[in-house]
Amino acid sequence: ASVVAIVGRANVGKSTIFNRIVGERISIVEDVAGVTRDRIYATATWLTKEFRLIDTGGIELKDASFVTQIKIQAEIAIEEADLIVFVVNGREGVTQEDEYVARLLQKTKKPILLAVNKIDDNAFINEIYDFYSLGMGDPIPVSGSHGIGIGDLLDEIIKNLDFTEEEFDEDEIRFSIIGRPNVGKSSLTNAILGEERVIVSNIEGTTRDAIDTAFEKDGQKYRVIDTAGMRKKGKVYESIEKYSILRALSSIEKSDVIVVVIDGQRGVIEQDKHVAGYAHEAGKGVILVVNKWDLVEKDEKTMQKKEKELRSQFKYLDYARIIFLSAKTHQRVPQLFPLIEESFVNSHKRVQTSVLNDVLVDAQAINPTTTFNGGRLKIFYANQVSVCPPTFILFVNDPQYLHFSYKRYLENRLRDSFGFEGTPIHIICRKRD
Ligand code: GDP
Repeated sequence: ASVVAIVGRANVGKSTIFNRIVGERISIVEDVAGVTRDRIYATATWLTKEFRLIDTGGIELKDASFVTQIKIQAEIAIEEADLIVFVVNGREGVTQEDEYVARLLQKTKKPILLAVNKIDDNAFINEIYDFYSLGMGDPIPVSGSHGIGIGDLLDEIIKNLDFTEEEFDEDEIRFSIIGRPNVGKSSLTNAILGEERVIVSNIEGTTRDAIDTAFEKDGQKYRVIDTAGMRKKGKVYESIEKYSILRALSSIEKSDVIVVVIDGQRGVIEQDKHVAGYAHEAGKGVILVVNKWDLVEKDEKTMQKKEKELRSQFKYLDYARIIFLSAKTHQRVPQLFPLIEESFVNSHKRVQTSVLNDVLVDAQAINPTTTFNGGRLKIFYANQVSVCPPTFILFVNDPQYLHFSYKRYLENRLRDSFGFEGTPIHIICRKRD
């Protein structure tokens, strides 16, 4: 989907406008990863069109001067977005800082919309004319806090984005390799593409959206999304955690399967958990790669011990396969391909309604529901409503009688019965009258 970035100096109301556009739709799915999702990246919908929105103001470099800060924002917007919304404060007139932002933005050929914020009522409408001097076209008056003019701004956004559907091959497995800096994402990508019998068909690196690499291995087509290492490295902001999360989120969006890389030598840090948490929340297939295994001093028990440790550190990823490998020596890199394929196949699996219901009846016979929240859950029937992730609706007497541990139990039953390794599954309860 297209990406829109909001930029502008501090306190002009970027986040207010962001929140207005995104509304309450942003979902904080679960807090399992201990991640409080920063509201800097979200999906927005307007007139049936969908786009992604970034609030660059949320990506801050601690102790940075105004100039550095705004430079980073502008660079990120130019790098990541298809369209930029430049926000200014209509109550203050054009400031030098606005002029500075405008100069930075002029470097890009991408469309820019100028939103003049804090025009809360008609008394201020004449203030907007000043802003023609920024050379950004017609200023659009808005009031983020009052929700005025947001519809007009959204109309302009939609008008300037390209919504032609990207065509893609249904047999192709799209995956991305994510992880914090230096865990070996680029090395792993190179190892994958350099494997025996891997035929790389194209590497494009010209536009933002085309940093994908298609290849074929043993008759299966794959595409690495946002190929690590294909991006120019060395920008200051690349090391900002929020920025790497932003990047990870946008690659996750386009993938079927997420390969989360951690550094086997260094151990797991908070940032790894954040990255993995986002992969989990996206509901895509997940594989956990422990890289740099060549550097780990080990005996025959090390791997088992490490796996146990990882299982407790990434509890919510209990469905993910863990593989210990070395991008450097290629040890076990060939074994990654079948795992990616398994995860893809399972996340697209549809089960028969009759078998599904048999499994649930059996599950309840083995482990009957007990009273919870003043009542006892009765499951009437179930349906699989979608894939990626496989999602099941349970029609019940009252959803509030479902204890989370019973939900967990049902998930495990479904997983064992149908083979959902490598993919999360979702269970939704609906009241049936
Ligand atoms: P990225 O930032 O995640 O893309 O990480 P890089 O691929 O640039 O790797 C960071 C550093 O770790 C580089 O010096 C690599 O040579 C090194 N590295 C990556 N994978 C391995 C591995 O499996 N074994 C060893 N010994 N070093 C590795």
